[in-house]
Amino acid sequence: METPVNKNMEEIIEALQEENKKLLRENRKLARELKHEMTLNKNTEILSEAKINLNRIIYDEKSRLEKYMNLLLNNCPYLILLFDSEGKIAFTSNSYLLKNNITTFAMIRGKSYRELLGPLLKEEILQQADLVFKNGAEGCKYASFKQDVDLEQEGYIRHYIIETTPMFNEAEQTEGAITVFYDITEIVRAKNEAEYARKIAEQSVRVKSEFLANMSHEIRTPINAIIGMTSIAKLSPDIEKKDYCLDKVEIASSHLLGVINDILDMSKIDANKLELSNVEFNFEKMLQKIVSVISLRVEEKHQDLVVHIDKHIPNFLIGDDKRLVQVITNLLSNAVKFTSEYGSIYLDTFLVIEEDNICTLQIEVCDNGIGISQEQQSRLFSSFEQADSSTSRKFGGTGLGLAISKRIVELMNGRIWIRSELGKGATFAFTAQMERGRAANPNGILSVSANWENIRVMVVDDSAVTCEYFEEIAESIDLQCDTVLGGGEACALIDKNGAYDIYFIDWQMPDMDGIELCKWIRGNTPDNSMIIMMSSAEWGAIEKEAKQAGVNGFLPKPLFPSSIIDCINECLGFDNLMADGEKQSIEAEVFKGYHILLVEDVEINREIVISLLEPTQIGIDCAENGLEAVNMLKEAPDKYDIIFMDIQMPEMDGYEATRNIRALESGHARQVPIVAMTANVFREDIEKCLAAGMNDHIGKPMDFDEVLAKLYKYL
Ligand code: ADP
Repeated sequence: METPVNKNMEEIIEALQEENKKLLRENRKLARELKHEMTLNKNTEILSEAKINLNRIIYDEKSRLEKYMNLLLNNCPYLILLFDSEGKIAFTSNSYLLKNNITTFAMIRGKSYRELLGPLLKEEILQQADLVFKNGAEGCKYASFKQDVDLEQEGYIRHYIIETTPMFNEAEQTEGAITVFYDITEIVRAKNEAEYARKIAEQSVRVKSEFLANMSHEIRTPINAIIGMTSIAKLSPDIEKKDYCLDKVEIASSHLLGVINDILDMSKIDANKLELSNVEFNFEKMLQKIVSVISLRVEEKHQDLVVHIDKHIPNFLIGDDKRLVQVITNLLSNAVKFTSEYGSIYLDTFLVIEEDNICTLQIEVCDNGIGISQEQQSRLFSSFEQADSSTSRKFGGTGLGLAISKRIVELMNGRIWIRSELGKGATFAFTAQMERGRAANPNGILSVSANWENIRVMVVDDSAVTCEYFEEIAESIDLQCDTVLGGGEACALIDKNGAYDIYFIDWQMPDMDGIELCKWIRGNTPDNSMIIMMSSAEWGAIEKEAKQAGVNGFLPKPLFPSSIIDCINECLGFDNLMADGEKQSIEAEVFKGYHILLVEDVEINREIVISLLEPTQIGIDCAENGLEAVNMLKEAPDKYDIIFMDIQMPEMDGYEATRNIRALESGHARQVPIVAMTANVFREDIEKCLAAGMNDHIGKPMDFDEVLAKLYKYL
């Protein structure tokens, strides 16, 4: 039986079960809710984590970009400045700070555009920048200028393009400006260099074509004279006319040779092959030779040439006398060429210093001719340059002389320079080092047989320079000498002191000239004095008149110490005490009995040597090439006393012929003097001749004195 309690229980259980189910449902719901809650929580965490991550990423990216930006700005070669909307500096690139020696940005923080850049930039640029700051928004887009600035303030200007550009915010309002300095120095320099190179190239093309035109003129003119005069001589029956033509041919030929020598020298200089030789020479004699060559032209232009030799320069020097002659001759002939008639030319020489037997000489050639402008002077020593081509057309010349002289002087450890003003003459000066010579004999000595203390000499010349120079020479040889500047003064002094033993009287003087003074002396003093007339004129032209006036002798001007001393010795009846021995004159039959073998393939060259040597009576056999010469020597090994050997010949050249001759069995053939006679005149050509076994060398065209000198030397 079911009891109520049981029923109740059941109900309770049922109710409990119901309750349980409900709780379970709630639990499930709670669990679901919890689960949901939990998921939500987790998401929030993730979200916040994600947020943190994102922030980090944004931060990293930002600082990376900032870093890149800084790197970029600091390594950027341009100088960058950022100004804020008030025009105050907000940022600069490192390059700007470095360039301006600013150690930290703090040093310039807050400075305005004008404060910072005002001292450096032009007002024009500053004003344009002001406009950019003010009106950037209103359309003043940017300002760009070029300026040369010494930013570092170290005295070195660089070229910049300076650009100022406005910066805008999102609202299109001006937020400041950015100024960039673009350094274009290298571009400008490269452009300038390219421009300079182009100009130089153009100039050198122009100078070279002018030079070629000029050279063609310089070569054609004498050739024209040679051809023309030869034709005239051939046609003319008159012997005097023929002589006249031959003289002209001779002058034109030597001029042509000069031009060719200049070109050869210049090409040697270009190839760096100009070298000097070392020989001992007499300095005064060298100058005398130069003057004797130049004096013809000086006389033609009635110019006055005065030479002064410093008594401290040793008589003998060791160096390349031929090259020294070349430089002095070039300067002197220019002085004559560019000085008008009746002008004056001085050749002055002095010893600058002597150390350990090395003498530094200074030589100056001064004229009162047309002069050279400053602009022209700067170009003169370069090859092919002439002060002005129109001048050169008037005066002729290759424009190479000074460039060659400069190189020669440099090889002599010297330098060359010019002092001149247009229209006021020019002085060319150079220094050169020479070794003191070892030869002891002086240039001139007074005879020991005379009692010099009692000999009185008077010099009369209107040129104070000549009088002074004479006094200097007289003093150096202990000779008493009175000098006066004119005839009147001379007469007064003779009246006062009595007659002199020797008079040196200038021919042309104002008021009373030399001839008149001689007549006065002869009329007013005893006859036993000697009168020497001094002049740069040809003695032949005044000899007759001078002798009639009582003149005993002649001293050519310009004066040289040795010629004065020789003249004094001669006046007193003493022979010329100087050993001359320089120029060999041709004596008839001097080489009679001797034999030459002339090896030369060109007929005209054989003819010249045979004709020139004819008076010496030397026997001459000819061979037309090296092979023939060797065979002739094989046949008659001892016949020849000397061989003149051309180099370039068909069959066998001169070098090979010499080697073959030296290899012959005959002892004579191994020793017979062989002298090269060739147009190959470079130093290495001469060395090649010597290496082949020759003894000596004569250059072509032949200087007949040189040929004779070799004959005297070897025979
Ligand atoms: P060249 O005389 O053969 O033309 P140089 O080299 O000797 O060549 O001289 C170059 C130029 O220098 C001459 O053409 C001339 O314009 C100028 N010159 C040289 N010497 C003098 C001088 N004494 N007076 C004026 N101009 C001179």
